Amino acid sequence: MKEPFIRVENLSYSYGDGGNEKPKHPAVSGISLEIGEGEYLAVIGRNGSGKSTFAKLLNLILDPTDGKIYISGKDVTSPDMTDEDVYAVRRDIGMVFQNPDNQLVATVVEDDVAFGPENLGLPREELRKRVDDALAAVGMTEFAGYEPHRLSGGQKQRVAIAGIIAMLPRCIIFDESTAMLDPIGRRDTVEMMEKLNREKGITVITITHYMDEAVRADRVIVMDNGRVLADGTPKQVYSDRELILSAGLELPQCATLVDRLRTAGVNIPDGDSTTPEKCAELIASALKGGELS
Ligand code: ADP
Ligand code: MG
Repeated sequence: MKEPFIRVENLSYSYGDGGNEKPKHPAVSGISLEIGEGEYLAVIGRNGSGKSTFAKLLNLILDPTDGKIYISGKDVTSPDMTDEDVYAVRRDIGMVFQNPDNQLVATVVEDDVAFGPENLGLPREELRKRVDDALAAVGMTEFAGYEPHRLSGGQKQRVAIAGIIAMLPRCIIFDESTAMLDPIGRRDTVEMMEKLNREKGITVITITHYMDEAVRADRVIVMDNGRVLADGTPKQVYSDRELILSAGLELPQCATLVDRLRTAGVNIPDGDSTTPEKCAELIASALKGGELS
């Protein structure tokens, strides 16, 4: 049987107790799941639910307290992992963070994008090609010679993404990468994630507070208290109202609207109400049935 791209088994992590005698409750607690190559996965959950810790475990920034992570069948949490093996995993599983200002290190955009791949010891031409391709992929070619501080937040985030793409990763984790952006920067960044997923086959894991972003993924994982509370399609996950509310999350507004219309006696057919487009279809079919006329 073919090994899944990423498999985590009973993964747990506790931060040090900082001198406090009481053991801290784990930030990530007994997570087991598989992620297939090319998946588009959203991770949601209230503040402190363990999302960032989970992400940092996946790209080996943190060492699990317990449990295993396998990438293409290889145990990357084994004590036999060399430094080179660890760097290879970090190259394969890139991370884009929340604050674009903290991720840009160079004074010129193209140097910033080259920063990661430069350390791979690539031949000059290969490096040039990677930087050019990455800038083109995020639509920032014309900004190659700019100073990053002259760019908007969304543009900076695109440069940060280009720096990751230039490493040719198999997976990119976006840890609330849209949280500090204006609506246009946010839309651009989400479109970028989707394009990388669809056109380059890169596995995308997006950690987000915005449910309109989460419902666009193929699969949604709900975390609470370091555990996975739910794992399914956006429709499956968001149709469990109790679960969403108990995890401290909100339902999509359009789904709430459809619910209220039903409560008010409007005969709206069952169906996916996770996006405005899908809600409009449901309401339209009720209208055509004469329900609202
Ligand atoms: P999320 O990303 O879902 O907001 P985190 O993974 O950042 O959650 O945090 C999970 C838990 O771990 C929280 O209780 C948080 O306070 C704790 N935590 C996170 N980072 C640290 C740290 N560096 N030191 C100690 N505790 C931490
Ligand atoms: Mg976080």
